[in-house]
Amino acid sequence: MEVAGNLKTIQENIGHACERSGRKPEDITVIGVTKYVTIERTKEAIDSGIENLGENRNEGFLEKYNHFGNQAKWHFIGTLQSRKVKDVIDKINVLHSLDRMSLAKEINKRTAAPMDCFVQINVSGEESKHGIEPEEVLPFIEKLEKYHHIHVIGLMTMAPHIDDPDRIRKVFRSLAELRDRIKEKKFSHAPCEYLSMGMSNDYEIAIEEGATHIRIGSKLVGS
Ligand SMILES: *Cc1c(COP(=O)(O)O)cnc(C)c1O
Repeated sequence: MEVAGNLKTIQENIGHACERSGRKPEDITVIGVTKYVTIERTKEAIDSGIENLGENRNEGFLEKYNHFGNQAKWHFIGTLQSRKVKDVIDKINVLHSLDRMSLAKEINKRTAAPMDCFVQINVSGEESKHGIEPEEVLPFIEKLEKYHHIHVIGLMTMAPHIDDPDRIRKVFRSLAELRDRIKEKKFSHAPCEYLSMGMSNDYEIAIEEGATHIRIGSKLVGS
């Protein structure tokens, strides 16, 4: 399947999910996750009109960035090692995986301008998942205030790899509730308006539960 066709299908599904939940498609940003695919396929994605691309590893990100530069807005969605921050931080537009204070400190030191970040939350409680525990999110975000180059635009999570839509929905709903609680604090360093949640297999549920940024790899650009 070609990227343009996949995108059309996904946009239709987004439309339906929005109708079901009283939302607007223009409030949802589709991030094409190109981590599995070649430069050629990434070019096809850009040519199809996908403006936001996501990569989860430094090497893959730099390869794509060095090739396409500012033809796309770059989202870093994987674990970022502190010692590698300096190689990528001025090239990425949005970090989806802020998950520890030491990383915030390093980013703060290495950027000249405020960095838009999602704080990654381990909602499902799986050992294998990265992210802050839900009950630690508020104190974590409060402590980020001292890092003037960290700007928390929202929360991010990954749902567990299961087939049970009700459990997936609960994970997304919990993240939305957590976001609401932080947003109502009106922190100037952490407006926390957005929700990065939903991938190829669960983006429609994520939209119904309030996702503003969906990260789609295999069903959009291929795997
Ligand atoms: C790989 C990846 C995705 C995309 O996964 P698909 O299931 O292929 O859509 C989304 N988010 C993160 C953090 C990823 O690592």
